[in-house]
Amino acid sequence: MPTKSLPCVLLGTALSICLPTLADTAVEHYGQLAVKGNQIVDRQAQPVSLAGPSLFWSNTGWGADKYYNAEVVNYIQEQWNAPIIRAAIGAGKNGGMLTHPEENIAKAEAVIDAATDQGMYVILDWHAHHAEDHPKDAIAFFQHFARKYGAQPNIIYEIYNEPLADTDWASVIKPYAEEVIAAIRAIDPDNLIIVGTQTWSQDVDKAADDPITGIDNIAYTLHFYAGTHKAELRQKAQYALDKGIALMVTEWGTVDANGDGAVDRQSTQKWLDFIKRNQLSHANWALNDKIEGASMLKNGTAADGAWSDDDLTESGLYVKSIVKNWSDIDYSGDE
Ligand code: MG
Repeated sequence: MPTKSLPCVLLGTALSICLPTLADTAVEHYGQLAVKGNQIVDRQAQPVSLAGPSLFWSNTGWGADKYYNAEVVNYIQEQWNAPIIRAAIGAGKNGGMLTHPEENIAKAEAVIDAATDQGMYVILDWHAHHAEDHPKDAIAFFQHFARKYGAQPNIIYEIYNEPLADTDWASVIKPYAEEVIAAIRAIDPDNLIIVGTQTWSQDVDKAADDPITGIDNIAYTLHFYAGTHKAELRQKAQYALDKGIALMVTEWGTVDANGDGAVDRQSTQKWLDFIKRNQLSHANWALNDKIEGASMLKNGTAADGAWSDDDLTESGLYVKSIVKNWSDIDYSGDE
């Protein structure tokens, strides 16, 4: 944690008093986020770069839903100084929103409420690979959350995690996005909406060539896995930024694109340099204990957030150091 300075007030010529101050939470510090040109900015129109973890699929019965609770969110704020967390709410597949809506909504709300209490931003992600097949479900989902939380500055809507490689931007993804965005904007006029892009959210160049227009505070999803994706994908991202769209890395991994394999520190560092240079925000996949390289927690780790570094995997320890050292700002809100 950075050292907090004490503000001092001069009283007359010789006497001054220094008072302890409250650290701002992330939301107190930055306020309502917006998109300005190709950047996500704070209430002062200054670029914002936030780092945090993404939870794993919330689907009932998949084993990661137990981590959707306040104790885990509190741990991430207090021990990692994270200003943001992502809730990856399973849309389709077994145990997701289409079959278990109440359970998944309750998990999302548990994370959003805890993040709100901690003054953190929270990405509400419709975690799908075929969202265009059921847009009405996505609309009902986001309208529920826009009604309940849209007046708060900390909710970020991510409306389509990862469209597949053969799901066309112009004819499928963009029309889906415009329909869902219109439904959100009918309720919440301003909070950030992050739009997934073709090829597991890598083809940000296609979105840059044919962006959504006429709506404020739209950014686009860029995903990478350091073991698989290298300079070629960064060039694509740079092209998109240069064309003028804003990007958010709502999901990235230190390992291979299948979520497994070894931690690639050399490639990760190149990505972090790119992210830092362009002042992007990012969320690492995944805060979960599944036995695979991307998981931050060792298999069998309890869901109580009472964790030591001994509970973290190699990737978890690495990502903790990245998140904790990302900013000099103390987001604790503590005295
Ligand atoms: Mg709003």
